[in-house]
Amino acid sequence: MNPDYFPATMQAAVLYGPRDLRLERVNLPDLAAGEVLVKVEAVALCGSDLHFYTGERALKEPMVLGHEITGRVVATGPDVAVERLNDRVAIEPNISCGVCNRCLRGLGRICQHKQSVAITRWGGLAEYIAVPTDFAWTIPETFSLADAATIEPTAVVIHALRQAQIKPGSTLAVVGCGGVGLLLAITAIAQGYRVVVIEPNPKRRQAALSAGVTQAIATRDAGEAHTFFEQFDVQYIFECAGIAVTTQLCLDAAPSGSRIILLGLSAENVTFNPLRFVRNDLEVRSSLIYDHPVDFAATLELIASGRLKPGSTTGQPQPLENVEMLLQAMEEGALDAKPIIIFPNPT
Ligand SMILES: [Zn+2]
Ligand SMILES: [Zn+2]
Repeated sequence: MNPDYFPATMQAAVLYGPRDLRLERVNLPDLAAGEVLVKVEAVALCGSDLHFYTGERALKEPMVLGHEITGRVVATGPDVAVERLNDRVAIEPNISCGVCNRCLRGLGRICQHKQSVAITRWGGLAEYIAVPTDFAWTIPETFSLADAATIEPTAVVIHALRQAQIKPGSTLAVVGCGGVGLLLAITAIAQGYRVVVIEPNPKRRQAALSAGVTQAIATRDAGEAHTFFEQFDVQYIFECAGIAVTTQLCLDAAPSGSRIILLGLSAENVTFNPLRFVRNDLEVRSSLIYDHPVDFAATLELIASGRLKPGSTTGQPQPLENVEMLLQAMEEGALDAKPIIIFPNPT
């Protein structure tokens, strides 16, 4: 790395506390052994960014948000092959250690020493970011900027679909078709499954139908939802809204022999009836982020096949200056598409 080549400071969106987001100039990140410096080209936003912004999830220190990141390698740290210079990359922002007992069991998602971009180390809403080289995935130049910026959330849904162990030819239901739900629906369709949706917002239902979903209804009634699931022979139900009411709906409406997969992060308690669960052979699984390296590898393969364009769920690209406005619009439910920030003059 030639220090003369880079500016001393960069523009970044730093969250100091709930609703205290400041655009300011900060020092470029230090580049440790085994890391690459990435010039950020685009960052997609999701519900996690919003939860940190509102204070629903607390941060221990001032933090640069943004964890759905694509860019280009502009410097390599000690011990990194210089061949990686100029690689176009997507960043895997949950950095598992690879050696703890959980990592050795293939459970990198719950690694005891996990570092997370935009939670424990600075994120991508900045002109540059440093990441371990194994977590900067080289991607083809043919991927659109929006597809490249949505590889991370796609890995989340790829992992969920893998956790569900779906039989070929099955129909699955998505409950809550916001950013994650829509991405899960289009990814499942790309993998050859039939998808139905429960979602109260008519615009989101329309977006789901336009994306190839077989049927989309609005209901919060367990009886109605049960009938809907039976009608389409749904065996897998993905809770993607992350609120108690939809989680409860999944538990109460699941038809016999079905599996519920929880992706949403509801902190409120829900209840279930053990007798109903045993008699109807029901099952609940959780799905947390993804495992290194399998899920990013599978995601890149699916996008490269041309069958999935996750960037189709994003809206009009916006400059970094608009990030707070976008977070507020997300909070108000005023956005029809996943927000995406782009940086000027990508290298
Ligand atoms: Zn995200
Ligand atoms: Zn570990």
